Amino acid sequence: MDFIEKQKIIILGSTGSIGKQTLNVCRRLNFEIEALTCSGNIELLLEQIKEFKPKKVGVADQEAATRLSELLEELDGPVPEVLGGEQGIVEIAKLKCDKLVVAIIGFSALQPLIAAIKEKRTIALANKETIVSTGKYVLNLAKQYGAKIYPIDSEPSAIWQCLAGQTDRPSKVWLTASGGPFLNYTRDQFATITIADALAHPVWSMGNKITIDSSTMLNKGLELIEICRLFDLSGDQVEVLVHPQSIIHSMVGFVDGSVIAQMGLPDMELPIQYALTYGTRRAMPDKPKLNLAELGKLTFQAPDFEKFPGLRLAYEAQAEDGAMPAVLNAANEIAVDAFVNNQISYLNIVEIVENTMKQFRSHDLLKKEDITNILKADQWARVYAEKLIEQVV
Ligand code: MG
Repeated sequence: MDFIEKQKIIILGSTGSIGKQTLNVCRRLNFEIEALTCSGNIELLLEQIKEFKPKKVGVADQEAATRLSELLEELDGPVPEVLGGEQGIVEIAKLKCDKLVVAIIGFSALQPLIAAIKEKRTIALANKETIVSTGKYVLNLAKQYGAKIYPIDSEPSAIWQCLAGQTDRPSKVWLTASGGPFLNYTRDQFATITIADALAHPVWSMGNKITIDSSTMLNKGLELIEICRLFDLSGDQVEVLVHPQSIIHSMVGFVDGSVIAQMGLPDMELPIQYALTYGTRRAMPDKPKLNLAELGKLTFQAPDFEKFPGLRLAYEAQAEDGAMPAVLNAANEIAVDAFVNNQISYLNIVEIVENTMKQFRSHDLLKKEDITNILKADQWARVYAEKLIEQVV
């Protein structure tokens, strides 16, 4: 494919961690920013507007959108049009561009994503919840409309890079995990974990939701389901491998025993840039380079399913399929939110996910795969998880 030197980019969720790192990539490559959106952080969005001069911006929170419009009146020169509310984000997702980056967290990315697919866009997707929850629906829709979906999370990107140019399907994939901040905690120590502890990730710099998910290893669980969907793998073909240095971002194995790994310093800008410039690689002169001799060694260990039961739940949800991955994801979103808001303890997060999944096993939506029923299952799980939280409080 032809590489477009001066691309037009839209970023949904530009004030979050991935959004900001995507803007760094765009700054490096001198890409044009067509439009930006955020949920409510208009102070940062205003700074981004001044630097990147997008034609349109979207703010999901309607009140914040109105305030942004007022602030923009004070600026000299042309200002972007402001679209407010969830529908505003969907409208931005439909705009013409070379790459649409979906960096919105959680399930709220679904409607904008569907809108962009129907416009046949090339989508760089950081959001894993939509792929996890809606099963093959989103991917089939993309196929049907001829939209392209490129992963920009480091592990799916690693697998994508390892498979580039391969004619054979992988027989196995190793999904690497840093292990998070509590890798070496004892079971007793888990009961004492505070919000501040859980938000301090040893390797990756990420947003709050994903940092908590990474500490429970449910992030790895969601990735397990995500890569099974993206690369058409079964759960038993994927082995989670704890690799604290986070240099190998995942590996693929073939029938002859050959294993290909993708390595690099842990920095999200690499997978983001790989997706934005797909078909060619561009230099990152401002970034340090991997020095293996200096590192000395890379270590690996099997994950501890006793200490990180969230990982077991993800394997179960993947095997059960249907609406179960959506239920796991929804219960987790609600539980993480309650933990960050001091409503429940750290150990409650995975308990709530597990109990919601248990309850769902007797639900008649269990084996339904169509989008309407998956959305119903998602809603059911949110309500049920909220009920469990009320019982904890
Ligand atoms: Mg990841």
